[in-house]
Amino acid sequence: MEQHDHAVATDEHATHAGHATAHATAHAGHDKHAGHGDGSMFRDKFWVSLVLAVPVVGFSEMFADLIGYEVPAWATWIPPVVGTFLFFYGGWPFLAGAKAELADRLPGMMTLISLAIGVAFVASALTSLDLGGFELDFWWELALLIVVMLLGHWLEMRALGQASGALQALAELLPDTAERVTADGAVVPVPLDELTVGDVVLVRSGGRVPADGVVSEGTAEVDESTVTGESTTVARGPGDRVEAGTVATDTAIRIEVTAVGDDTALAGIQRLVADAQASSSRAQALADRAAAYLFWFALGVGALTFLVWALLGEASAAVERTVTVLVIACPHALGLAIPLVIAISTSMSARAGILVKDRLALERMRQVDAVLFDKTGTLTVGRPAVAGVAVASSAGEDELLAVAAAAERDSEHPLATAIVAAASARGPVPSASDFRSLTGKGVRAVVDGAEVAVGGPGLLRDLDLAVPSAVESQVAEWAAAGSTVLYVVRDGTVLGALALADEIRPESREAVALLRDEGVHTVMITGDARNVAESVAAEVGIDEVFAEVLPEDKDAAVTSLQERGLMAAMVGDGVNDAPALARADVGIAIGAGTDVAVESAGVVLASDDPRGVVSARVLSKASYRKMVQNLVWATGYNLLSVPLAAGVLAPIGFVLPPAAAAVAMTASTVIVAANAQLLRRLDLRPDRLGR
Ligand code: ADP
Ligand code: MG
Repeated sequence: MEQHDHAVATDEHATHAGHATAHATAHAGHDKHAGHGDGSMFRDKFWVSLVLAVPVVGFSEMFADLIGYEVPAWATWIPPVVGTFLFFYGGWPFLAGAKAELADRLPGMMTLISLAIGVAFVASALTSLDLGGFELDFWWELALLIVVMLLGHWLEMRALGQASGALQALAELLPDTAERVTADGAVVPVPLDELTVGDVVLVRSGGRVPADGVVSEGTAEVDESTVTGESTTVARGPGDRVEAGTVATDTAIRIEVTAVGDDTALAGIQRLVADAQASSSRAQALADRAAAYLFWFALGVGALTFLVWALLGEASAAVERTVTVLVIACPHALGLAIPLVIAISTSMSARAGILVKDRLALERMRQVDAVLFDKTGTLTVGRPAVAGVAVASSAGEDELLAVAAAAERDSEHPLATAIVAAASARGPVPSASDFRSLTGKGVRAVVDGAEVAVGGPGLLRDLDLAVPSAVESQVAEWAAAGSTVLYVVRDGTVLGALALADEIRPESREAVALLRDEGVHTVMITGDARNVAESVAAEVGIDEVFAEVLPEDKDAAVTSLQERGLMAAMVGDGVNDAPALARADVGIAIGAGTDVAVESAGVVLASDDPRGVVSARVLSKASYRKMVQNLVWATGYNLLSVPLAAGVLAPIGFVLPPAAAAVAMTASTVIVAANAQLLRRLDLRPDRLGR
């Protein structure tokens, strides 16, 4: 786990091509407006525009009047000239974005901004050229509008860039250099991107595999948890496939490279996450939809304003108020309100190791009222070990274990790995044939000509066998202690039972307690026997248990909770959790899980700490609160100031002067921006949650 934390914390580590691609893709979805993915463009334009805005504002008549000084005669050319430059230079991204939006017939934020700056520009230019016969000097509002909008877009892009740091966490699982074995047997270090298919590389013990390949020499226990989610190491010898990012834990191996860079399995996972993060989130669309409404609202009010004042015979007031309406309808605040909250919460979640694949999933998280935890690998460490052997026949303990291990040898299940490890430590394991896996129940195989089956109580039931009385009390004791009990059956006789203990994660209890404090119903789901499951549930503090659930029925359990009217989140890691993760209102894959689990989940926790679920919920609630606050503030401001500027209160002698409108607008922008920043005070570190 250290690598994860480290990688999330360090931001600038563009070490190889895979990363660069992921980074670029992560931005792509956001750029539909203007077609430039880089926040640095907004940053540069912002700083230049900010500097240029100073003389525009300082030498403008309206501002001078407001403050109370005279603009020197020699300086009157400055606002129109610099303002015009600003309009084209700083306003360009918005004008280009508006063009794209209008081409899609989807007016949104960019169109609204362009409407405001366009109208301000035309009115001011006509005024400065003494055409049109009205006095509408909007240069300084134009300058401020452009500066504020550039700032908003820069901040948003930057935060999204920080969010892609989470992708770097995955990217950094790859070493920077590989050790290539040359034809004469020498080992030379080469940069990763110089590796080609067919190269032979040396992976030292404890080193990471730099590319996908096939073992050509040596046998090592390989930790594949980054790719499969199983924390148990797997022995990989000559001819076996190994994947980039996995670790040879004990001995050095040589591998022949079969895929490099973007073709590796790890790059595939990275792409998956990048695509998901880039897919233009519907939450952002919410701000855009609001902008679209505001666009039509502004146009409507503008038209109405013009019509009414023109009919009243006040031609210059008609133009003046219409222009003011169109300019101030631009939602400085709205343009920042939601995107800023999203940007900040995304970057915060990435830093906390919460990868948000589907923003809507994170948004629903705040409403979740039931959380289902997979037992093995989620609430427990997922690394079972044989903790006891009970014999029920003449076969001794060693023989019982050896027979069980023989049958289990071809199984990928962590229980199987544990049995094989325990048996190998005691002596040789016989070979087996005709291996069959009975999903969610156990395994069968032929060992020394005898039909052997290993599995839980479900298997015994299927075989119509009873628990032998010789082991009954021992089995009850194990189950009460929370150990998984497996029976070993040979030719229809139960030879005995094995206890497999899996450590409960120390953080599980706290995660469950924190959720219960919030009134969330906690549920555990497992394929394990009921008494075992209940003992673990009691230890962790879980409210409800679904036990002896076959893998294919896990999603039915989620459905049954949903049918009770509960909004359900599912937390799991394994392949057999994927359907349930997809079915749940919020699917959370833990420990960067198996790629299937990651694919089905809406939220992926980089660490395997179940308290991340609580962090996600806390963040979800806080960012929703901020979005609503900002939305209310931003639209409230517009709904109020637009009619005032239109002259609704003119009969009683009040029309919002353009300058006052601009000041109010700036203040409102600063308020939503500051309010969004307050989100950063949230501490999502697991040990700071709750009490
Ligand atoms: P979970 O991931 O919830 O623990 P599984 O479906 O992987 O559930 O396993 C459920 C049960 O099926 C186990 O508790 C065990 O009794 C039995 N089982 C599964 N695989 C094996 C195996 N390879 N050997 C013996 N028993 C197994
Ligand atoms: Mg599991």
